[in-house]
Amino acid sequence: MASKSRWADTEEDAELEVKLKKEKEEKKRLKAEKAAKAEEQRKRAAAAAEAAREQERLQQEQQESAETDRPPAKRRKTTPEGDDGRTADTENVKLLRFEAGGWAPSRSVENYNKLNDIEEGAYGWVARAKEIKTGKVVALKRLKIDNVESKRTGLPETGLREIQILKDCSHKNIVKLQEVVVSEDTSRIENIFLVLEFVEHDLKSILEDMPEPFLASEIKTLLLQLASGVAYLHDHWILHRDLKTSNLLLNNRGQLKIADFGMARYVGDPPPQLTQLVVTLWYRAPELLLGTKTYGAAIDMWSLGCIFGEILTRDPLLPGKNEVDTLTKIFELCGIPTDESWPGFRRLPNARSLRLPSSSKNSPAAAAATGSVIRAKFPLLTAAGSALLSSLLSLNPDARPTAKDMLRHEYFHQDPKPKHEAMFPTFPSKAGQERRRRHDTPNAPGRGIAASLGAVDFSGIFSGREKEERGGGFSLRMV
Ligand code: ADP
Repeated sequence: MASKSRWADTEEDAELEVKLKKEKEEKKRLKAEKAAKAEEQRKRAAAAAEAAREQERLQQEQQESAETDRPPAKRRKTTPEGDDGRTADTENVKLLRFEAGGWAPSRSVENYNKLNDIEEGAYGWVARAKEIKTGKVVALKRLKIDNVESKRTGLPETGLREIQILKDCSHKNIVKLQEVVVSEDTSRIENIFLVLEFVEHDLKSILEDMPEPFLASEIKTLLLQLASGVAYLHDHWILHRDLKTSNLLLNNRGQLKIADFGMARYVGDPPPQLTQLVVTLWYRAPELLLGTKTYGAAIDMWSLGCIFGEILTRDPLLPGKNEVDTLTKIFELCGIPTDESWPGFRRLPNARSLRLPSSSKNSPAAAAATGSVIRAKFPLLTAAGSALLSSLLSLNPDARPTAKDMLRHEYFHQDPKPKHEAMFPTFPSKAGQERRRRHDTPNAPGRGIAASLGAVDFSGIFSGREKEERGGGFSLRMV
């Protein structure tokens, strides 16, 4: 029995007080029960909203994969499954919850004042601009309708991919997307702009204008930064698919930034079937030219090899006029694929009907395959440097190093050591004052069906070389 209150005058008072206390406790219990139920309901609603968002994301991904692509084989599973594959009882499952970023209307482009055009042409528009409120200088890139299909559906697929991937990336060697802004009439894709960190130069313009080539220590700094950005992308299942010197930006603090993610996409492992019409011709890997249906990160590594060669000589390494001409240049530089060096290459769609020169022992083709042509073309490159370049330019994609392998390569540990970014030379900025000269390089391919090469005869590409080699005119740098 409860002790008697000092305010209770009578026995009755005391009983009433006990009753009231009990009622109060019961009310408290009911209230707690109600609160627990409400919390449970709130959690369920949040889980349902999360599932709906995930569903929407997957649908969007599938839509984006619709070109010739199958959806990536590996998908992140967010719904736990029982052993028999059925969805488990979600009531008993504790879901991890993360703060989900919401959607907010894009700001207007009117928040920026245009300073000058950087690139303007049929292909795209990029301008230097200043944010009115902060005075911060940025690059504004207008989204473009990329092909007939997009014009019909109104879906700027490449633009959407570019936004999605750049939003997901955070790395010092990848250009930073600050926000997406719109002008008044948002029904037109051309009125959507990416606000990017402004970077003073692109590597292509620098290479074209510099009177002397980069020093070995500077080349190493550039390549390390490039490999570091590419390693980040590949680590995050992103293929860039258009690496070339005009898409590499360099600021006045010696920092390189990979730009232009219009061709980039997420892939899985094993990679899905993807369109072969990717990568600007001069930087396009042989497996793509031979019509492979599946490819992976090694296509970007081939482009890195082409960029390495271009940085060394300031001229594009494989400037083919068309697919066949590019393959000819590749074979001349890297040799002819054989069943030993590239098992299975004959099964690639465009390889079946090719006539290739002999690659018997002592033939020029066999010599090229050992890297001798590469060593002769880059006489100033050290043995480690040409070994790295040759491996990046392996015809067999499986023989190319990964970006992470490249970062660990001996070449970067040898003298001269990579130059510190802060010690990098500065260059007069074209983007800062005037429009950049339109580069004399081909553009990334548009969507469509990759042309078949048909029956091409490469058998004569080494003719004349035999004599050259016999006469010693073929200068091999033995290392
Ligand atoms: P496109 O898809 O039209 O080729 P890019 O993203 O490659 O567009 O940009 C075209 C050119 O614009 C680049 O070669 C570079 O000169 C310039 N540019 C792009 N992004 C920036 C940036 N963030 N800062 C400065 N210039 C840039």
